[in-house]
Amino acid sequence: MNIILFGPPGAGKGTQAAKLVDDRSMVQLSTGDMLRAEITGGSDLGIRAKKIMEAGKLVSDDIMIKMIEMRMDDDGAKAGVILDGFPRTLKQAEALDRMLTQNNVAIDHAIEITVDENLLFDRIENRAIQSDEVRDDDNAEVLKERLKVYHKNTAPVLPFYRKKGILRQVDGMMTIEQVAEKIDKILDS
Ligand code: AMP
Repeated sequence: MNIILFGPPGAGKGTQAAKLVDDRSMVQLSTGDMLRAEITGGSDLGIRAKKIMEAGKLVSDDIMIKMIEMRMDDDGAKAGVILDGFPRTLKQAEALDRMLTQNNVAIDHAIEITVDENLLFDRIENRAIQSDEVRDDDNAEVLKERLKVYHKNTAPVLPFYRKKGILRQVDGMMTIEQVAEKIDKILDS
């Protein structure tokens, strides 16, 4: 089973993806985590991506598509993936569709985690305080830009999956456990 988690920054995509990895042995493909690993590793891509991420903007489609393509080919990913943070643009969604078709697989569920955006600022600040990993984009100023980018580039991807009849919404303002329960129901439906 292949699923996509959508939602603005701080909606809980990463948290829910991690739960699915634990509970269902699925493979999480988080493009944000992959980029942060590139930054930690000090690669050229990491150096370029760091600036873009700190500004709350999107890394180019070509780079992101290549990054996901390489990971989708991994054996582990063939068992089923949770895409967390990809696709973020229509071009990425179309490229993903082509990749999956070539491999004779499809997305089974696209789940949009909805949130009250006014409350995201507190959440992101808490994440910055509680997390071991320091993220330069977890602050109010960058969050504003990331939200703008989400509405401009990523929200238009949702109708692509709605048309396929696989888009479902989950209220991300509930507790982590409650959100996970709703997602479980969708995956088991
Ligand atoms: P995330 O951890 O998913 O919130 O991603 C952190 C940052 O990485 C984003 O704000 C973007 O700058 C970059 N990024 C992650 N995934 C993508 C993607 N699919 N396309 C473009 N940029 C991305």
